[in-house]
Formats: sequence, structure tokens, C-alpha cells
Amino acid sequence: MNNIKNYINGKFERPIKNEWIENYDPSNGEVYGQIPNSSKEDVENAYKAAKSAFNNWSNTTLDERSRVLIKISELLEENLDRFAKAESMDNGKPISLAKTVDIPRAASNFRFFGNAITQFSSESHESVGQNAVNYTLRQPIGVVGCISPWNLPLYLFTWKIAPALATGNCVVAKPSEVTPMTAYLLGEICNEAGLPKGVLNIVHGLGTSTGQAIVEHPDIKAISFTGGTATGAHIAKVAAPMFKKLSLELGGKNPNIIFADCEYEDMLETTVRSSFANQGQICLCGSRIFVEATIYEQFKTDFVKKVKNLKVGHPSDTKTNIGALVSKPHLEKVKEYIQIARDENGIILCGGKEVIVEGYENGYYLEPTVIEVHDDECRVNQEEIFGPVVTIMPFKTEDDVLKMANKVKYGLSATLWTNNLKRTMRMSNKLQAGIVWVNTWMMRDLRTPFGGVKASGVGREGGFEALRFFTEPKNVCIKY
Ligand code: NAD
Repeated sequence: MNNIKNYINGKFERPIKNEWIENYDPSNGEVYGQIPNSSKEDVENAYKAAKSAFNNWSNTTLDERSRVLIKISELLEENLDRFAKAESMDNGKPISLAKTVDIPRAASNFRFFGNAITQFSSESHESVGQNAVNYTLRQPIGVVGCISPWNLPLYLFTWKIAPALATGNCVVAKPSEVTPMTAYLLGEICNEAGLPKGVLNIVHGLGTSTGQAIVEHPDIKAISFTGGTATGAHIAKVAAPMFKKLSLELGGKNPNIIFADCEYEDMLETTVRSSFANQGQICLCGSRIFVEATIYEQFKTDFVKKVKNLKVGHPSDTKTNIGALVSKPHLEKVKEYIQIARDENGIILCGGKEVIVEGYENGYYLEPTVIEVHDDECRVNQEEIFGPVVTIMPFKTEDDVLKMANKVKYGLSATLWTNNLKRTMRMSNKLQAGIVWVNTWMMRDLRTPFGGVKASGVGREGGFEALRFFTEPKNVCIKY
């Protein structure tokens, strides 16, 4: 059994009430460990540890903070194989993806913010003619809460923790109860890197109890949350009357808009990836594909052919393109949407069925599924499915596709395939999204703002945006 523990004050602790949750291996549907179902009391202990570490950590020099964060990054790289294996087993994602994306990007998060903090500066304003100068301090908030989802477990967990620590805060963090393993292993790395005890505390448990206790804690002054839109709305309701700073990265239903003048082969290959990477469980996946009518039939044939070639298999098999979905309930949810598509007269062009992988018959495998829809307002085109399912439909004009792209409640990212510069600029201006990719997908520069509009969230992560979120500006005005 792989039992994991909370990481509080630099030590690994059992939950006070000794309550545990079962942890499933999605590749075979078996329980392979237990995780603490932490109570309010565990969260309180984590908070106390963070609070007592704050004075020292917030006064640690930038050089020293930077050194520790970069050391964590290096240790993650040294432990790449171990972390990738754990991530793949916990989540069901192909080991190749965990090795090339999840763990390297988690290491990059620490390296990036370890460097960024040495370049972060505040402003000063000289009030000319009034004999005064203003300077603005950027002070850490104190103890902050970081709550993350299951799809990119360590990657998104560290995307919050690294900037929070870099700016001198102490953290109470909770990974998803569905994928807790790499967050647990991170504690060991932090100790080895010399992160002082109590600076980062990791509590495990259910969202509705452990997560809720973090959000409700009166002295945890900021919450950085990534997860579903309904959970984000609930967290906002709890945190707003307590005047907490809030960063919410929520769901998406991203359009992938393909014009006839694009570089066809590049588009085709990237579209397979942007549809099905991580079993389609990436908030940035382009789940609504709109194709210019003149190339629609050709695209449909070529795309379906490529998708049929994707290999669904055990996550540890290096030839696997599509691993297991993260959990049984999630698999059932995605299957329900495929049924909804059928009921709405969608045409299943390929996929739609569960896959039995030999030797792992109880795993949560599903064929990559392409659905042709005729109405952009049908449910499968409006609601987030978050699985290996995309819809395709043709469009005639730029105006038509823009209207359809924007006619959802979400606004996280959009992808545009065209070689027409003026159209690129027109459409990028008008697309309702926090991120627009043109002729590429999921290309990341960590300095850029990351986040969504509408029901996809509030605030931005990334670069100095994250460092600003985790600090309080205080203006000092001096008259001379
Ligand atoms: P979720 O909302 O169910 O859970 C996310 C986290 O919140 C988990 O750690 C969970 O335990 C916790 N939680 C649940 N209820 C809580 C509560 N009442 N108080 C405090 N914490 C609570 O989401 P999920 O199913 O883990 O993740 C999938 C969702 O995340 C999708 O909607 C996806 O689009 C979204 N997502 C968004 C981004 C982004 O950057 N915008 C990135 C990845 C995933």
C-alpha cells in the first residue's frame, strides 16, 4: 500500500482523526493506497506552522529564496523518472507525457519563479512640484492557500506554490484528492532543498471538507484556486465576504478555428494533440473544432484517420498515446456526454466506446471520440466535457465563426489556424478568451499572463502577474 501523509512543519503527519480516503490506480481500477482525509484541525495545524515560519521566511533575502527554489527545481529534474512514474500511475496519463510535460514543467515553475523574484521590482513616483516622492512596497500577504485540480497534478500545484513562496508567503496547499501522490513526494524534495520547515505545508483530503477549511480559515488571506467553474463560484461566495484576495482559474470550452489558408499538415498534427493530449483533460484543449467549409470534408477524413491511429493503452507503455481517464465517475460523466450527443443527433465519426486493455480490464479507458454536430448550441458544444471528446462543424464566414466561438459561457483559450495577417489581428482582438494561440497550441512562455474571462475565471497567473497577486502593494508618500 502506498499510504501518504500530510506535510506539516517539515514533517510527515497522519491525520488527527485518523480518517483516510482510498486512492485508485485508473489504469486497473484498483485501490493502491490511502490518503489522509484531513479535518479542520489538520488545516489549523498547517496554518500554525505556516504562521510561525512567516517572520523568518518573509525576511529571507531574495538571493536565498531564489537559491532554495532553484534547488527544488534541480531536485525535481534529478528525480524525473520517479516523479513521472508516480504521476502517470496516480492520474492514468501516459508516462511519456508525464516525463516530457508534467514533471519538467513543474521543475520549470520553480526555476522560473526562483529567477523572476530577483527581477521583480516595485515602483516609485516623484510628485513633481509638490516636494514629495512615493515609493510602493510589495509585501507578502502572510499565509496563503493554494488549491489545485487533478488533470496536471504537480504542474498546476507548483504553478501556484512557486510564486507564493518566491514572494515571501508561507503556504497551506491542497492537491486534488484524486491525484495526491506527487504533491506528497514534493515534501521530501522541499526538505532536501533546505526549504525551512513550515514555509510550505501540504494537507490532503476532500474539497468539501479539507479544501473548504482552507477557504474558510479567517487568517488565510488569499486563495489561489484552479478547478471547476462551479467550485470556483462556491469558493468566491465563501471568500468574498471575508475580503480575501482570490485568483480563480476555471473551466473552458475552447474553440479551435481552422481556415483553409492554414499550413494544413502542421494544423492537422497539432489539432490531434490539442484535442486528445492527456486524454483531453487539459483546460486548454480545443474541444470545439470549427473548419472553413471549403476544406471541411478533407479535414474530416484526414482528422478521423489520424485519430483512429491513436493507441489507447496502459499509461506505462511508452507507445501509448491515450492512457486512462482519471476516475470511474469521470469516465461515466464523459460517456454520458457521448450519449447526449447521440440524443442530440450528433454523428459519432469515430470512438464513443470504452476500451478493454488486456490485463487491465477494469481500467478507465475510452476511445478518442470525434462528433460531428450541426448546431453550435447543442449541449456537447456548450458544456465542458473534459475528456477525449471533440466536436467538429463547418463554417462559412469569419463573422459566423466568431459568433459561434464566443457564444459559450467560458473564455479561457482559443486557437486560430490561418496565414492571413489581417484576419489574425481582427479575430485575436474579438475572441473572448484570456489566451489566443495562432498557428500553435499550448506553447508557453512563463512570463505571459495566464487565465480566462467570463466563467473561466478571475485574475491571471504567470510572470509578474502572479508575483503581484501574492503581494500587497503599500504606497509610502514622503514630503521633503
Ligand atoms: P474541482 O473543482 O472538482 O476540484 C479542484 C480542487 O478544488 C480539488 O483540490 C478539490 O478537492 C478542491 N475543492 C472542491 N470543492 C472545494 C471546496 N468547497 N472548497 C475548497 N476546495 C474545494 O475540479 P477538478 O475536477 O479537480 O478539475 C477539473 C476542472 O479544473 C475542469 O473544470 C478544468 O477546466 C479546470 N481546470 C482549469 C484550469 C485553468 O487554468 N483554468 C487548469 C486545469 C483545470
